[in-house]
Amino acid sequence: DTKTIQQQDHAHYLHPFTDHQALGRKGARVMVRGEGIYLWDSEGNKILDGMSGLWCVAVGYGRTSISKAVYEQMETLPFYNSFFNTTNVPAVRLAARLSQLAPEGFNHVFFTGSGSEANDTNVRMVRRYWDLMGFKERHVIISRHNSYHGSTMAGASLGGMSGMHEQGGLPIPGIVHIGQPNYYDDGVGLTPDEFGLRAASWLEAKILEVGPDKVAAFIGEPVQGAGGVIIPPDSYWPEIRRICDKYGILLIADEVITGFGRLGRWFASEPYKPDLITFAKGVTSGYVPLGGVLVGSRVADVLIGQGGDFNHGFTYSGHPVACAAALENLRIIEDEGLVERVANDTGPYLKHAFGALADHALVGTAETCGFVAGLNLVKRKAENVHYQVRFDPALGVGMLCRAHMFNTGIIMRAVGDRMIIAPPLVMTHAQIDEMVALIRRALDLTLEEVRG
Ligand code: PLP
Repeated sequence: DTKTIQQQDHAHYLHPFTDHQALGRKGARVMVRGEGIYLWDSEGNKILDGMSGLWCVAVGYGRTSISKAVYEQMETLPFYNSFFNTTNVPAVRLAARLSQLAPEGFNHVFFTGSGSEANDTNVRMVRRYWDLMGFKERHVIISRHNSYHGSTMAGASLGGMSGMHEQGGLPIPGIVHIGQPNYYDDGVGLTPDEFGLRAASWLEAKILEVGPDKVAAFIGEPVQGAGGVIIPPDSYWPEIRRICDKYGILLIADEVITGFGRLGRWFASEPYKPDLITFAKGVTSGYVPLGGVLVGSRVADVLIGQGGDFNHGFTYSGHPVACAAALENLRIIEDEGLVERVANDTGPYLKHAFGALADHALVGTAETCGFVAGLNLVKRKAENVHYQVRFDPALGVGMLCRAHMFNTGIIMRAVGDRMIIAPPLVMTHAQIDEMVALIRRALDLTLEEVRG
């Protein structure tokens, strides 16, 4: 029963990113089943999963063809590694499939067990690349404040979350940060495109500060996810690519959230031609852990062409069961045309339906990009986003709103007073309408509470 599970949970289970004292008072909500875009808790309540778990369950819950693929692979070969001179069939097939789906020039894949491990792999791989190129000083990686790149030492260091850096003395040496392209917070007096160019210029300033001969790479999420669905102006990424080219710096796109159709392309970074792409989450829709790095020819040619070992790898790199799950998940995404649907049908529909929430008294802006979306809760609205009055952060209005969402039957995340979603890509128009209606109801309840 729920109480027993909650007691055992509190007694034994150290949760990620959780205040355990608060959890102990309330008791965790116990999720027991999923089907399509819905979850059920141990009390029988149904809840619409507006976050696809943690941005990952792209094809929705309950896909028996994935469980079948996993079962069959477990029966045939549950594990074998690809260290030294061995390999396994699902890993090879998945590497070939990903090379087909990836932007032109990406023909190699390094597998990991998670997005964090994939970003650690990036750090080691770009440093190895510059060593092989004869530039052993080029080891610094530039990232952005408020970005999220994982929880390992390198992943959390690449990430720009101050709350993570404070715990454990991060970042590790050789990782530095610049500002994020957040027009809402920092674009006062500029058009979005002017601001995009300004935010990109912070990269050039940092390169010059560190010394161009010391910078190995720049890493960024195409749209910052965990930082609050921060959608950069159109001018931003082409300018970042131009600056990287000017100084010969590698560009890493962290597509752990945005990959596999979430922004209406297989890989959102394709137009600005990154050198390396981090992936995880959507590759298996979260059914089994898997991540990795897509390696473009500039790096692959040197790593392979110069010979010698890349002394790096994980027991579960290329795990056959995870790769079998990924192959079936990618088949579903392709056969159901989910990438095209997000680009041309459900994505524009979500934009219209979610955007309409901007008329709510609590909502300052409501914007989407493919199948991620965010809205700002404000105390007083104004046409110009920079004149909107915000709530005192100490009131925790975002957290209040999140609780109302949860109780109303929709999972939405709060990042300060910004409410965000990343729904499963399989949503229909009717389900989008249902989700937006639930959000509106929870916004009404939040408004009553903050006004009351
Ligand atoms: N990179 C990005 C952009 C992410 O959003 C995440 C996880 O949310 C990660 C990396 C880390 O992935 P994982 O949790 O699989 O280690």
